[in-house]
Amino acid sequence: MDHLNSSDTVYCKNHPGHQISFIKVSFQNEQILKCLQCLLEEDGKIQDYLALETIKVCNDDHIFLNWPSLDDNRILKNIQHTIKNNKYSKIEEIELAFSQFTKEILEEIFKKKKAFILQVQTQNQVQEDLLKIYNEVSGKQKLKELINIRKQTDQNDYEGLKKFIQENQQQKESITNILKEQLIKLDNIQTNITNDFSQLKSIIQKKMDSFFDPENFNLIKDLSKQLQQHQQNSQINELYGKSSYCDYNNSIPIQIQELQDQNTIQIIKNDPKSYGGVYFKYDLTKESKYTFRFKFNDTAGDYFIIGLIDSKEINFQLNDTNQGKIFCNNITNYKCYASQIVKGNLFYKIQKDLEIEMRVDIENRQVDFLDYPNYLNQNQLNRGYQLEKNGKYYLAIHFSTASQYTTCIDLTYFKIEK
Ligand SMILES: [Zn+2]
Repeated sequence: MDHLNSSDTVYCKNHPGHQISFIKVSFQNEQILKCLQCLLEEDGKIQDYLALETIKVCNDDHIFLNWPSLDDNRILKNIQHTIKNNKYSKIEEIELAFSQFTKEILEEIFKKKKAFILQVQTQNQVQEDLLKIYNEVSGKQKLKELINIRKQTDQNDYEGLKKFIQENQQQKESITNILKEQLIKLDNIQTNITNDFSQLKSIIQKKMDSFFDPENFNLIKDLSKQLQQHQQNSQINELYGKSSYCDYNNSIPIQIQELQDQNTIQIIKNDPKSYGGVYFKYDLTKESKYTFRFKFNDTAGDYFIIGLIDSKEINFQLNDTNQGKIFCNNITNYKCYASQIVKGNLFYKIQKDLEIEMRVDIENRQVDFLDYPNYLNQNQLNRGYQLEKNGKYYLAIHFSTASQYTTCIDLTYFKIEK
């Protein structure tokens, strides 16, 4: 390959006088060096070629969108996106943010520690006072003296003890109040301490919440911005106003709600008894590849099918055509649509917040279903139920009559790739 990098010009074998400008990366037993004329004459896709000029001038952080060859080129786009967006996450900023955060938390803790010590000092003082007051009002010392005299069986002093007890009886109310007051003081201090602790807890909690809130923390903010940009790449607006309802048997219609500010279309089955089909009159053909993403909002449903219908047969029942994937809670009850496993395991369970991705490739007659965003499992249409290469399809969701439930499915993403 050295000679390609040198200044010597290399010419095309098939087109004399034309400079070699491309490498064909998807070659099959043919010449890999191509000129512009080759490119124009060949039937290949533009993604099959790498420009020599790009290889020469590209920097360290350049990601080729078609090299190395992969099963799924979206990975390269993903890498490019990630590299581009993470460039500006500075370690110093993170260090600074965290040390500022820990400093604030520690300050709060020390402030409360001081207050706590003060409260405990007061508590000890009040406790000491309480004992003093008790000894005073109980006349403990006097009682001791009176008892000593009583041992000498002096009738007069016995009278003295009797008088002392009588006096105590008379002062009962005021003594009770004095002691009560002290106990209330102690109680209040205990309450203050408890309040201080829960206050500290809530201050720290608030600081934590705000620090780790994606809106406030730069690092996470960048990540969520990326996510938003990703959402903005969605072409879901192409589906707005295109929904239709396929009534199987005068059922209560499934509702469609377009949340345009959230780039989401909600498919809502409000009535447990309603069933039927919903479809979107947007032509899906072999000219493009399509990606849809759905999010489930609950665990309800037994069952529904997400898939494609032939645009010529809009009175569809996806359970008859088998060109979709079944979602239910117990697969043993049903025929298992789209159960061919490409990767991982068969999946079908309806779980809250579960997101699935549906990839449509009519050229290759397939629809793939994957868990999003991890892509651990990939299932596709069963053999014998693949799409027609020249067909025109619509996205469709079929709600069965099999059981009664309400549910809401979010269509969160739609992407068309030529
Ligand atoms: Zn050529």
